[in-house]
Amino acid sequence: MLNIVLFGPPGAGKGTQSQKLIDKYSLIHLSTGDLLRSEIAAGTTLGLEAKKLMDNGLLVPDEVVIGMIENKVKEHPHATGFIFDGFPRTVPQAQGLDKLLHDNNTEISCMIALRVDDEELTSRLLLRGKTSGRPDDQNEELIRKRVQEYNTKTAPVADYYAGQGKFYAVDGIGEIEDIFSTLCQHIDALKEKQKESR
Ligand code: AMP
Repeated sequence: MLNIVLFGPPGAGKGTQSQKLIDKYSLIHLSTGDLLRSEIAAGTTLGLEAKKLMDNGLLVPDEVVIGMIENKVKEHPHATGFIFDGFPRTVPQAQGLDKLLHDNNTEISCMIALRVDDEELTSRLLLRGKTSGRPDDQNEELIRKRVQEYNTKTAPVADYYAGQGKFYAVDGIGEIEDIFSTLCQHIDALKEKQKESR
């Protein structure tokens, strides 16, 4: 299986690149942000609780997102692979994901990080907020809070995968197609390696 963690701060372009990668490699896209927004739209208790945190730019509890991912992975027993987008966002989530995949006889193939500086992120998110309808994209203070949550709680997840020799970083500023083609180069090299080790 090809299981990719697409990593990077809010506004790095994970959603855009995920869409392109799932088309090219026939992967299943799992975005915890999208799953949480569906819960909010459906008015579930989980959604209402999560909304309070999301509206303040804070992370929702690890157990909640790990549980959602577990359900989704189980829904696709014959998948050729997954793209995890916006997850894991803490080291305990990464450990939970490793355990979940191990229990399903698979593992993370790689984490690829999209690198974008904080100022560029803020302007991209404010621009996205004009059309996305996402309340958390429309307020500069909230955007800075989300980037701060990323820098303190999420950035260490990169070290977790680097420790496993699975971390790659790509420049997230530039043309969408150029960034996509760099991502594909990394993934194709990994697939070759997977083939050789079979
Ligand atoms: P995103 O769509 O990935 O930018 O996520 C939007 C918001 O959902 C975040 O600011 C968090 O409040 C929450 N969220 C999404 N994914 C996670 C996660 N893996 N862990 C904790 N909170 C999350």
